[in-house]
Amino acid sequence: MARNIGSRYTTHQILGRGSAGTVWLGEGPEGPVAVKLLREDLASDQELVGRFVQERTALLGLDHPRVVKVRDLVVDGNDLALVMDLVRGTDLRTRLDRERRLAPEAAVAIVADVADALAAAHAAGIVHRDVKPENILLDMEGPLGPGGAHPALLTDFGVAKLIDTPGRTKATRIIGTPDYLAPEIVEGLPPRAAVDIYALATVLYELLAGFTPFGGGHPGAVLRRHVTETVVPLPGIPEELWQLIVQCLAKAPASRLRASELAARLKDVLPLLKGIPPLDVDEPDAEPAPETYEEDAFATGAGAGEPGPRRAAVPLVPGASADSNRDTHTSMRVPAPDELSGGPLGTARAPRPAGARRPGSARHKAEAVRKRRITLTIAAVVVAGALGAGGYLASSGDADTPPQDSKQSSLP
Ligand code: ADP
Ligand code: MG
Repeated sequence: MARNIGSRYTTHQILGRGSAGTVWLGEGPEGPVAVKLLREDLASDQELVGRFVQERTALLGLDHPRVVKVRDLVVDGNDLALVMDLVRGTDLRTRLDRERRLAPEAAVAIVADVADALAAAHAAGIVHRDVKPENILLDMEGPLGPGGAHPALLTDFGVAKLIDTPGRTKATRIIGTPDYLAPEIVEGLPPRAAVDIYALATVLYELLAGFTPFGGGHPGAVLRRHVTETVVPLPGIPEELWQLIVQCLAKAPASRLRASELAARLKDVLPLLKGIPPLDVDEPDAEPAPETYEEDAFATGAGAGEPGPRRAAVPLVPGASADSNRDTHTSMRVPAPDELSGGPLGTARAPRPAGARRPGSARHKAEAVRKRRITLTIAAVVVAGALGAGGYLASSGDADTPPQDSKQSSLP
């Protein structure tokens, strides 16, 4: 059933559902569009509507072939909608779920596209802050590139930030995967352009390996690994490519490449990757699933007791139900330094049921056993601030300038 959104758009059918709302196939004055209709509770939040309007200019201003173009922001009665270019295809998470790993050439071609998108955004002073496969759309109608990869477009600039801000800390429902969070965010520093590079390198690793470098197990453990662990090498890829990954996963933000340089160097290695099949990587043993954390105060929360898919949202708040495994956000208290360094050791964990090996972390087995004894507890305080997800729009023209509104109120 068609529905009007503002005076210029109508929506026809659902394309997908996300954490922030529903994406519809719509029609506008210039043809078909995708309309992200924000959830009702978000749309009725006056403060959020204000920010929405405030950031209109920045959102609308970003124009690049590798960025899903936001055409309009509509505030109409109870509706709050983002009108975007329609991308006919699928998102990268869907493709990854289907194929598990991509051939290196295709993986690098896709990531180079996203690096191009980030270069444009960073040059415009915009930090995305939520780079992950869910926010990379593959345009199936576009020409095939290296490795048979369709053009990739980055989406959801600024959206997560609109939704997840300190003002909404009472919301206890927003939880997501911490797999892509740069170590400096975990440590409470303001998010700058380099966080996007770290996240994108994580995506590249995941496309090649089938798992993220620091993911798996309890979200607190994942956060700690970002800060303390080094990435386990992937066999079978050219050294040049591996060095790019290592450099962009550097703990120190200043050591990472800039987006434009990453894009250029990825394109340089493409010819070396021709014909290399998807890697045959032995997935390492990982943390037990959160539900096996005997002492986890939140083990009784939603999701406990059932082995969820690896990327499922893990509720950090007792009783909170996970939204969807597509959740955009990670909101949690920034752990204190002693927590990040491991903290006091807990008691032994319940053995994992046979066959319940949980995919995820690329760590050595011995290491995994040691690290299982983590008592890093994520408090039931959901603070957006430094860990608040997504799309911080730097207020100046310099993406390396901390955004004015990235409050540090969430620091312990
Ligand atoms: P959220 O970020 O709020 O979780 P998404 O942005 O991931 O939601 O949107 C949910 C789904 O809608 C996506 O997985 C994708 O399939 C579809 N979608 C989103 N944006 C577009 C677009 N511009 N064109 C076509 N489909 C889209
Ligand atoms: Mg999204």
